[in-house]
This record gives sequence, C-alpha cells and structure tokens, in this order.
Amino acid sequence: MGRIVILPDVVVNRIAAGEVIQRPASVVKELIDNALDAGARRVEVRLEKGGRRLVMVRDDGCGMDAEDAVLAFERHATSKVRTVEDLTAIQTLGFRGEALASIAAVAHVVLETRPPDAEMGTRVEVVGGRLRSVTPAAVAPGTVVQVRALFMNVPARRKFLAAPSVELAHALEVVQNYALAYPDRTFHLWHDGREVFLYPAVAEAVERVRQVYGAEVARSLIPLALETPEGSVVGWVSPPDAGGFRADGMHVFVNGRVVRDRFLLQTFREGWQRYGARRPYPLLVAFLTWPPEAMDVNVHPTKMEVRFREPGRVQELIWTALDQALQARRPVPQWAPPAGASRRVALPEAVGTEDRTPLLRPSVSSRPVGLPSAGRVPPPGAGESEAPAPVRSAGRELIGQWARCYLVVLEAEAILLLDQHLVHERYLYEQWMASPQALPTQALLLPIPVEVGMADAAFLTGHAAELRRLGWQLEPFGPGAVTVQAVPLGVPADRVPEVVLQLRSILESASPDSVAGWDDLLKTMACKAAVKMGMELSPDRRAALFEMWQVLKVPQVCPHGRRMALRIPLTRVHHLFGRTWSGESVS
Ligand code: ADP
Ligand code: MG
Repeated sequence: MGRIVILPDVVVNRIAAGEVIQRPASVVKELIDNALDAGARRVEVRLEKGGRRLVMVRDDGCGMDAEDAVLAFERHATSKVRTVEDLTAIQTLGFRGEALASIAAVAHVVLETRPPDAEMGTRVEVVGGRLRSVTPAAVAPGTVVQVRALFMNVPARRKFLAAPSVELAHALEVVQNYALAYPDRTFHLWHDGREVFLYPAVAEAVERVRQVYGAEVARSLIPLALETPEGSVVGWVSPPDAGGFRADGMHVFVNGRVVRDRFLLQTFREGWQRYGARRPYPLLVAFLTWPPEAMDVNVHPTKMEVRFREPGRVQELIWTALDQALQARRPVPQWAPPAGASRRVALPEAVGTEDRTPLLRPSVSSRPVGLPSAGRVPPPGAGESEAPAPVRSAGRELIGQWARCYLVVLEAEAILLLDQHLVHERYLYEQWMASPQALPTQALLLPIPVEVGMADAAFLTGHAAELRRLGWQLEPFGPGAVTVQAVPLGVPADRVPEVVLQLRSILESASPDSVAGWDDLLKTMACKAAVKMGMELSPDRRAALFEMWQVLKVPQVCPHGRRMALRIPLTRVHHLFGRTWSGESVS
C-alpha cells in the first residue's frame, strides 16, 4: 500500500552527483582533495577536451587495499570521519564520503591503487554507478583515478557543459588554487596531451606565487602577516594602485582548505579598496587560520563555503591585516606613484627601433589646438615640427615636469598643466584608432623576455592571432615566459613588461570582433602602455610628450573622458595675488 520507498543507491547517488559535481572542474577538485588527504607529494592532472572526455588525477599518496578500493565507491564510505564529534573539528579536505560515489554515478570511472608497501595493486571499474570489475593490477604506488564520459547518463547536464576551452579554464582555476594553497607539493597539469604547467614543490609560498603569476607580479606584491591568539592572516596582496586582476585572482584558503566564499572575498575586497584602489579586484593569496570549532565547513556539498560563528571577528582580523600592510600606502589624492614602478621598468630606456628617442615622436606637423577655456591660441610656427626637441613651439614653452605628474607649459597669457599619462594614452589611442583592422607594429631590435607565469604563457601563445592584430609578436620562451619580438607602434620599450603582464586581462576585457570591443581594447591597451603618473621623465620624453599633445585630435580629454589639460590664465593668477588688471599694466 505504501507509496513511500527508500530510493536505491543508484538513484541517491545520481541525485547527490547533481549537487557535488557540476562540471569537470568539480571532479578535478574532489580528486585533488582525495589525493592531498592521502598525503600525496605530487599530483598530476590530465584532461582531455576540457575534462569532458577525460579527467585523470594521479597521486603518490597512501593508496588503498582491495577492500577499501571497492568501499570507496559506496556512499558515505569514508576513512576520515568516525563520529559526530569528528565533524566539529574536521582536519581533512574530504569527510562526506560521497565524492567518489557521486562521480561514479554519472561517469565511467577506473580507479587503480596500491599502498606503497603492498606487492600488488587493485583496479576497480565502475560505470554509471554499477561496479563492473575488480581485478588485481600491477601499478605504481599511489592512486590514479580516470573519469571518462562525465554525465553520460544525465543528458540534461551534458548539454549544459560549456566548450572545452571554458571547461578547461574552470579546471585550470581549480588546479591553480590548490597549487597556491599547497606550495610544498608538486602540481603537473596536462591538456590534450600537452603540458599546461608544472609547478615543482617549493619551500616558500611566495615561490609558488612566482611560479603561477611570474616574477614581476610576485615582486610587486605586499605581504600580509597578522597573527593573533585567535587566528591569523598570512599572504600577499597587490598594491591598490597596480594593474587590474580578474576575480579569479583572489585566492583565499581557510585552514588549508580551498574555498570560494562570498563573505571572505567581499571582506578582503572592501578592506583593500579603502586604500584608493581603482580596480575591482586585487591579486590576493591569503592563508586564513581560524579555530575549526568556531566555524563550519559542512555548509554545502562542494565544501567551498564556510560559516563562521562570529563573522565580525573574522572581518576584523582581515581588515586589520590589510590595514597593517597597506597603511604605509595611503594614497595621495587621486593617484599614487605606481609601487615599485622604478624597479619594474628598470630596462634601458630605448631597446627598440627607436634607438635614441624613448617615446615615438609624432610624424605629423604640429597644428593649433584649442582648449575649452582657451583664449587666444597663437598660430603654429612654420617648420617647427621638424625640430628634434621642440621645448618651445607655437608660442608655447615647455618648462619642465612637475611632481612627476604634469608637464608645465607657458603661454603668453596662461600656464598649462598637462597630465603626462593622459596625453600619452590619448596619443597612442588616436594613432591606433586610425588602423581599424590591425595595429601597425614595431619590431624590437633586442627581443624582451617577460616572465608571465605558466598559465598566462600558455594563454598568450594560444592567442597569437588576436595579439598579432593588436600589433604584438610573442614567442614562447622556456617555462612561464615569453619573448616580445614586436610591439604595437608607439609602446615604449620600458613599458613592455608591464603591458605584457596585462595582456591577458586586456584580451579578456573585450572582444576584438565587434567595433565597440576593438575600440575598448585599444583604449585599455593605450592606458597600460602610456607612461604613468609618478614616473620621472627624461628631457627627451618630456619634449616628445609635449609634441604629441600638440598633434592630438582631441587634446582636452583622455579616451575615457577625463580632463587632460588645465589652463590657468594669467588674469586668474593676478587675481589670486590680489592685483587688478587694467589693459597693459598691473598694479
Ligand atoms: P571523502 O573524501 O569525503 O572521505 P570520497 O568519496 O572522496 O569521500 O572518498 C572515499 C574514501 O576513499 C576516502 O575517505 C579515502 O579513504 C578513499 N580514497 C579516495 N581517494 C583516495 C586516494 N586518492 N588515495 C587514497 N585513498 C583514497
Ligand atoms: Mg573526497
């Protein structure tokens, strides 16, 4: 009579799989959890078609005997939790005992495993939740799990899987997160038979940051180090005035657990943005420790969220850590000199074809320009555009650079302040805008090597065609680095490393295939390539910028619409001095 039945395991597992396994990246995550829980020193991940065809994780951990290897696929089979009390102080990454059962319910899984001291290993094959075979196998110590045909029996899910490149990006993010959280383990990632990255085990977390993000970025990061009796925050954050990072550049680990918790991410972002950040996301690698009994990691089947008993105290800890690290960097209004800029752009001023002139000079003859508040603008002096360094031009005289931010220009009846960054940015943009299909490019006499990290190196070499349209020619150069052979016309050699480090986020910010997208790309790239506020400019560069400004089509605002030039009329200055102005004389 009863209409209620207990669901068979096959059904239960498939339902659970819906929660735990959303995409190939979830499989990667669960299998890495297991490898690390098994004490692996080395984790190898192989994907095919973004993981849609195959996710394989190999570890050199403790392995399982034949009995456990079969049990591992049973729901709620775990070696990690025995009692309810255990749940309140979980030390391992896994504890729910449902990952393998869930994965096996919706895929074709082969597990091969052998404890180091056993002579023989075991091979277990499970298809769609049904045990197909258990056989002895001569395998290396440790465990290999191969997951094929994910969601083979869940067409609705399979349909929602994204293109292999997108699934790969998700999986890559997972592996990188683990790599950053466990610098003392080796991580090796392959995709479609090609090596994506190899991060050998290192002693210091900062060395892993260097492997993942490249030396230049790692060097610019600010250390976080706050320890209280209650908890601690240790790690690195990018300077608030540094270039933009993507949301996935925020890595937060709680007691060694890789999480993606909204509250924590938001807390870090807010604390960081108070220091005048103009970018939405920092690059952040933060290890948070907090008493396990004062929080709950068993909030969601994917274990990516945490619930704190006293979130206010966690927030306070995080903000204090950020305050201590960033206090010294309280920004001067509006802008701050790029941290470490002088170090990072320490390349010789001219490495490119522009051997002596660091900034490419405009080739068009100078012409009159008007400012919104401009009074009389004298006509341009004939032939003056040919002068090598026209510090004086068309009734204007370049006096110098002020506060490493502004060019100071005298006119007969006014003083002009030009924003050095915006002038250069606008000039590059206007030059590039004239070439709607592909930017003019400039070969470098000496190629410039840039360490960008393994993942970005792979990304950049994989996007060679788009980059070429934008005027870049990059070649792979050893692990995690590229050499720059050619740059978009006008990019100064000493800006090249910084721009290359931003190329991925530039490329990802807009699509070059639409007119608006192309325009956005040019704007962003011009902004990154331009000289920065806070940079001391050589007399040559000042002159070149002054000249550039005079040939701009729109000399008042930058591509983003910000004011580029300020004119202070002499009459205003007299007024400020309390003098009255009458015709020829001042009294
Ligand atoms: P959980 O990790 O939550 O315990 P899983 O379904 O992920 O649940 O794994 C079940 C059990 O299988 C684990 O508790 C562990 O004992 C064993 N196991 C899984 N993967 C491995 C591995 N790579 N090496 C050794 N043991 C493993
Ligand atoms: Mg597990």
